[in-house]
Amino acid sequence: MKRAFLFGLGTFLILSALWSLLQFSALSAVLALILMPISVPVIRAAQRAPSNRSRLHAVVGWILGFLAVGICEFAVLGGAVFVSSLSSAQNVKVVPTTPVTYNIFPPVEYDHDYEGDLTIKMVDSIAELYAVCKINNPSLLACSSHNAKSCLIIMVKDEVMRKNGYSTGLLFRHERGHCNGWGADHAGQRPLLVGSPYWAPPDQRVSLPPEWEQEAMTIRAKNQQR
Ligand SMILES: [Zn+2]
Repeated sequence: MKRAFLFGLGTFLILSALWSLLQFSALSAVLALILMPISVPVIRAAQRAPSNRSRLHAVVGWILGFLAVGICEFAVLGGAVFVSSLSSAQNVKVVPTTPVTYNIFPPVEYDHDYEGDLTIKMVDSIAELYAVCKINNPSLLACSSHNAKSCLIIMVKDEVMRKNGYSTGLLFRHERGHCNGWGADHAGQRPLLVGSPYWAPPDQRVSLPPEWEQEAMTIRAKNQQR
């Protein structure tokens, strides 16, 4: 039976190597290179092994040998799939896919273009913002005011927004929501999610050449002297 088992195993290894070669991929070529040398000593050992006691032993031995690798592979792969399914099930619990950073967006019904006369005023500092907003909120970055035909949005400049973890784009959407009639109670406010396209790391944002910024600063300084 040992002789038949080894012959079966050897046959399987040779067929697997040939099958791998026929796949024409780098991985299968490596598999073929591994299987080929293993099959040689297996066949040699089969030739040296004592002859089979009976035809039944020979047939059963050959089949077991032929299937041995397949059964082991199946057990290993099945185990791996089982373990990975266990670990991925645990991951779902531990890491939420879209954690919330903060609430900023108005509800969908207010999150659209303002169909009226809109003014956007930018100020340089939080101190200036308090002067023109007259709102006593320690985390104030923008405010707005509207009537039947128009809306005025006042925001501190983007550099100051960014230091506080916001942007003028995010605050504009927030204030535009108020222009559209969203109440001061912020009912139904929606979150900015981690990985949102509305927030990019500094190195991925467009920026002006520093000399252009400097040119503008020089013009501003001149105008302030007058
Ligand atoms: Zn608000």
